[in-house]
Amino acid sequence: MDFTLSPAIEDYRRRIHGFVDEYVMPVELNPDAYDDGENIKDEYLEPLRTKARAAGLWALQMPKSRGGQGLPVVGMATCYEEMGRSIFGPLCFNCAAPDDGNMILLEKVGTEAQKARWLQPIVDGAVRSAFFMTEPMPGGGSDPSAMRTTATREGNKWVIRGHKWFATGAGVAAHLIVLAKTSDNARKGLTAFMFHKDQPGWRILRRIPIMGPEEHGGHCEVIFDGLEIPDDDRLMEVGDGLKVTQIRLGTARLTHCMRWLGMAKRALEICTPYIKERVSFNVKLADHEGVQWMLGEAAMDIAIGRLLTMHAAWKLDQGDFARKEVSMAKVAVADVLHKAVDTAIQLMGAKGYSGDTLLEWMYRYARCARLVDGASEVHKMVLARNLLAEGPDFWKWG
Ligand SMILES: Cc1cc2nc3c(=O)[nH]c(=O)nc-3n(C[C@H](O)[C@H](O)[C@H](O)COP(=O)(O)OP(=O)(O)OC[C@H]3O[C@@H](n4cnc5c(N)ncnc54)[C@H](O)[C@@H]3O)c2cc1C
Repeated sequence: MDFTLSPAIEDYRRRIHGFVDEYVMPVELNPDAYDDGENIKDEYLEPLRTKARAAGLWALQMPKSRGGQGLPVVGMATCYEEMGRSIFGPLCFNCAAPDDGNMILLEKVGTEAQKARWLQPIVDGAVRSAFFMTEPMPGGGSDPSAMRTTATREGNKWVIRGHKWFATGAGVAAHLIVLAKTSDNARKGLTAFMFHKDQPGWRILRRIPIMGPEEHGGHCEVIFDGLEIPDDDRLMEVGDGLKVTQIRLGTARLTHCMRWLGMAKRALEICTPYIKERVSFNVKLADHEGVQWMLGEAAMDIAIGRLLTMHAAWKLDQGDFARKEVSMAKVAVADVLHKAVDTAIQLMGAKGYSGDTLLEWMYRYARCARLVDGASEVHKMVLARNLLAEGPDFWKWG
């Protein structure tokens, strides 16, 4: 087994690391750079995006023919981790959620006409996107079969009626994907559609307040009360909605892990100078065995998360759906992120709890990791089902 990075991937990794250090991290230090959702203001983001494009570091996940870099998933894992070291990093390279997952989905399932209309402007950074799946009670959440939003066929168009919430980015997105029920068939009852924000028949009820910093456009609760979508804007076949979701979430869940690993590493980077300098009971904090155990355990957990993520990335590159591997990475890395940030806060004492470091931002953000793109318990349920069905083959290589 060879863990060496190819020279091309290593070159991207090194350049992204340098870019983040030189251009992005200084912006994190400027209080004026933060918007009301505690994310980077567009006036600070756009110059960084222009620079990233000029440096040939734009949209690593997209083919070169679309203006991206065409990296394999293993290359993405390496580079997203580097950009994830900065809380603003992934946005600068057009590799942040939810656009990242939406672009990967559209590239995989869109027709050429759909890609030209809906995907290319997201790749270009001209518009943002959002994905509407989750519904408030009693609609679909962890269990998509409970979905209530309907799409009814009327001639050559579909009419959408229903209620969704937690659509990340919907407050500023223009290219939108909605999942709706088109029949009562348990496996083939959902269908996915594209629509533009200016089409009538839907509205944002509110931007839901959350405990952590927000993606641009927040997390929105929306009503569909007669949105008309031409059949041309249907993604895949009627009844393929679950497939669309699985295709989107497969890679998108893993790119979350890649970015979170970068953030986990950064948390330890932030606390390291403190524990190397701070003296308590006549020795440096770093020389206390209790501190070493905390730090060593967090470092080891990050390494475990990286191996799970890389393995899933490698399987995706082999053309496998890697469902088990992605689920394992998602559960583990969500916990790793929390643990690394929590450890860094603890080791910095009161300063770690303050707004003087990024750790409190990261801590509030980290809490969503066990919920987004499937709650950890649901992933574990899927893993248990796989184990029960496969027996010892659950762990087979290759
Ligand atoms: C920050 C954030 C961003 C999001 N962005 C989007 C988005 O862009 N688009 C979108 O469509 N959705 C989005 N979501 C919604 C997210 O996908 C859902 O929250 C998630 O799928 C869980 O669904 P739910 O909230 O309805 O929880 P529920 O289904 O009500 O589940 C609640 C809890 O019950 C437990 N549970 C559920 N099922 C099982 C089971 N089978 N076994 C054991 N325990 C179980 C879990 O602990 C779970 O957390 C976002 C959520 C957050 C927090």
